[in-house]
Amino acid sequence: MAKIKSKDTKPEIILRKALFRDGLRYRKHRKDLPGKPDISIEKYRVIIDVRGCFWHGHENCPDGHTPKSNSEFWINKLRNNKSRDKKNLEKLSNLGYKVFVIWECEIKRKGVLQEKLQVLYDYLNTHHNLGIEQKPN
Ligand SMILES: [Zn+2]
Repeated sequence: MAKIKSKDTKPEIILRKALFRDGLRYRKHRKDLPGKPDISIEKYRVIIDVRGCFWHGHENCPDGHTPKSNSEFWINKLRNNKSRDKKNLEKLSNLGYKVFVIWECEIKRKGVLQEKLQVLYDYLNTHHNLGIEQKPN
C-alpha cells in the first residue's frame, strides 16, 4: 500500500524543534513500535502522534473533511486509517506508553501548540519529577 503520509512534514518539524528547544530528546519513526510513531521519548515512555488532519480524519476541522467526489472510496479509506490509528494507540498503551495526539492544525496555531506542549510537560513534570518549561523561540 502507498504510504499515507510523508515523513518530516512541516508541522512535525515545528513540533520537534519546540521539544528540542525545551530540552527533550526523542526518536523519530521507530520501526519496532506499532504504527512507527512520529516521536517517541523512551526515557519517559511517551509517544507523540502527529496526525495529518485530512488523512486521519480530524473531526470538526476544516482540513478534515471527506472529498465530495469519489466519496465512497474516501469514506472507506479514511475510516480504515482511523481504525488503524485507534488500534495502534491501544497497542502502545498496552506496551506501557502514554500517547499524546497532536493534530497538524493545532501545531500550525501557535497558541494551541503552546497549550498542547503544556499538557505534555505537565504530565512529564508530574510523573517524572521534572521541571520542563516552554522556552521562548
Ligand atoms: Zn485539524
